[in-house]
Amino acid sequence: MDRENISSVASALVVGGGIGGMAAAIALAERGVAVGIIDLDPEWRVYGAGITITGPTLRAYRRLGLLDAIKAQGAITTRTRLFRFDGVHLHDLDEPVIEEGLPATGGIMRPVLHRIMQERVRALAMPVRLGLTVSALDNTGNGVDVAFSDGSRGHYDLVIGADSVASRVRDLAFPHMGPPLPTGQGCWRISIARPPGLEAGEFYLGHANPCGITPCAPDSVYMWMLTPHVERERFMDDAELYDELKRLLADFGGNAGWIRDTMTRADWINYRPLAAVLQPKTWFNGRIVLLGDAAHATTPHLASGAGMAVESGIVLAEELARAISAEAGLLAYQERRYPRCKDVIDSSVAVGRLQLAHGDPAEHARILEGALARLNEPF
Ligand SMILES: Cc1cc2nc3c(=O)[nH]c(=O)nc-3n(C[C@H](O)[C@H](O)[C@H](O)COP(=O)(O)OP(=O)(O)OC[C@H]3O[C@@H](n4cnc5c(N)ncnc54)[C@H](O)[C@@H]3O)c2cc1C
Repeated sequence: MDRENISSVASALVVGGGIGGMAAAIALAERGVAVGIIDLDPEWRVYGAGITITGPTLRAYRRLGLLDAIKAQGAITTRTRLFRFDGVHLHDLDEPVIEEGLPATGGIMRPVLHRIMQERVRALAMPVRLGLTVSALDNTGNGVDVAFSDGSRGHYDLVIGADSVASRVRDLAFPHMGPPLPTGQGCWRISIARPPGLEAGEFYLGHANPCGITPCAPDSVYMWMLTPHVERERFMDDAELYDELKRLLADFGGNAGWIRDTMTRADWINYRPLAAVLQPKTWFNGRIVLLGDAAHATTPHLASGAGMAVESGIVLAEELARAISAEAGLLAYQERRYPRCKDVIDSSVAVGRLQLAHGDPAEHARILEGALARLNEPF
């Protein structure tokens, strides 16, 4: 694919080698920028959940040249099956194909997706330093002086804060921003063997706690469930997570019931309270810019947080390549991403509110369908 090189930025530091950071690093390196990545995690791991990769997210990964690897190592489906919570089949939704040759939707285990992106980063020969963060950032006019947490220093034409919801880069350079706000819901997830006969994604509706199953590989799925968040004095340990999820699934039939009856204490189970925020403009300060959850953290209602992070990485590189200066490129990036991320966050938070209020299912469907149709539009 022909790509215009970026002339206004020769070197960039990506802080946070997660989904958005790696996407930005790949897109910038492919346009001639010398990119370095740092990540706080000394082992550069990701936790063991599955993740839904919607059609628009697959489209973004195709732009990074990673679609074939995701298809081969994840699971691709063409439809979502809707059930009443007790297992009675309601109907099937055919997922639209939004670009020729693109699968409709899919899922993958997060560690597998991470490995696919890391392999591309390594193939592009980017230096990656681990167990490290930034301790000071000083704009110098045409670049940024960086002090690292190990005492070393560096200078880059651009610094990208992709260090997620508790972003250190955001704290250092964007005093007008703040952390995401709790939405009042929590998300349960379990990674488990694929129920026999499950061939598509499944949604279980009509219960106060909606849940769904996403295939992630020929032999594995993850199941999610959304519940009202209950404040606890301490985090639940593994045994409590198992007991509580089993209890929450008591009313469910179909494959959700199969998972309840089959789950073991060895399966990966996680509970996370949900939070979201669209950070107020501006998303850049001199030559420091934010992307991913650091700028646009959402809830999983549209399964699009990672997709937004990947799109933002690509758009940042595209706009820097197109613009006459780095500043113009950063402004164009912000203006292209802000409305789309706002739509995802507003729609996701609105659906969560309706679920908490046991709101009208037709209104719920209207918000989701509208947002999903807009997400299918080119980014
Ligand atoms: C419960 C739940 C379910 C979800 N399900 C989906 C889904 O199905 N589909 C979907 O598209 N999205 C989903 N999302 C959203 C998605 O996970 C995020 O939007 C996405 O991971 C954001 O990417 P990111 O690069 O901004 O952050 P991350 O992928 O979290 O990466 C951040 C990286 O920064 C590193 N880091 C953190 N702090 C520092 C620091 N100070 N210095 C250096 N490095 C640092 C971390 O180690 C990590 O590697 C879900 C989110 C939640 C909460």
